[in-house]
Amino acid sequence: MAPKGPEGQRPSPTQLHSESRQMDPRGSDDIQNLIAMMAKLPGLGPRSARRAVLKLIKRRDLLLLPLADALQAVATTARECQRCGNIGTADLCDICTDPARATGELCVVEDVSDLWAMERAGGFKGRYHVLGGTLSALDAVGPEELRIPELAQRVSDEGITEVILALNATVDGLTTAHYIVDALENSGAQLTSLAQGVPVGGELDYLDDGTITAALRARKALQ
Ligand SMILES: [Zn+2]
Repeated sequence: MAPKGPEGQRPSPTQLHSESRQMDPRGSDDIQNLIAMMAKLPGLGPRSARRAVLKLIKRRDLLLLPLADALQAVATTARECQRCGNIGTADLCDICTDPARATGELCVVEDVSDLWAMERAGGFKGRYHVLGGTLSALDAVGPEELRIPELAQRVSDEGITEVILALNATVDGLTTAHYIVDALENSGAQLTSLAQGVPVGGELDYLDDGTITAALRARKALQ
C-alpha cells in the first residue's frame, strides 16, 4: 500500500480555517464592515444590505464611486437649519431664507422626513418648525429636548398668525399637540391641526374603527 502523501489526507478543520483566512483578501473585512453599516439604515436588513453592497461593487463606476463622492460631499456640507431644524447645506435652509414663504403660517412637524413629505405634497407655502420627535414619558423625552421653547420664541419673534400642528396621529403625537396648545395659549396665534379621516382614494370598508370615528367627528358641511 502506497503511503498517503499530504494531498491524500483530509485537512483538519484548523487547517481549513487558517487557509480560508489566508485566502481572504484584506478587502473582505472592509466589505463586511460596509454591509454591517448599510444594514443599520432604515428599511434595510442584513440581506438587503448584502444585495445592495454586491450591486455597488459590480457597478463600480456607475454607482459605487459616485455614491462614495456623494456621501463625502454630504458628510462635509449637511447641517441642521438653525431656525427650523430642516436639513440643508447652510446655517439657514432654503425655506427659511425664501421671502415668499414669510406668510405668517408655521407648520410644526415631528421630523425632517415629515417636512419633506409636506413639501412633496406641495400644498403649503409657509414655513416649518421641526420638533425632533414627540414627548414621551416612556423614553424620558421632555419639552426641552424637542425645540418647543424655540417654537414659542419663533411665534412671537416672527409674527406668526397660524400654527398648524402636522404631528403623527399617535398617542405621543396627540400628547405633544396638547402640550403645544397649552404652551402657545397666550401667543395670539391661531392653532390648527391636520384633519384626520378618510384618505384620498380610501374606501370605508377598509378603514379601521378609529379612522372612521375621527372622520365622522371632522365632518364638514357641503353647502
Ligand atoms: Zn429652516
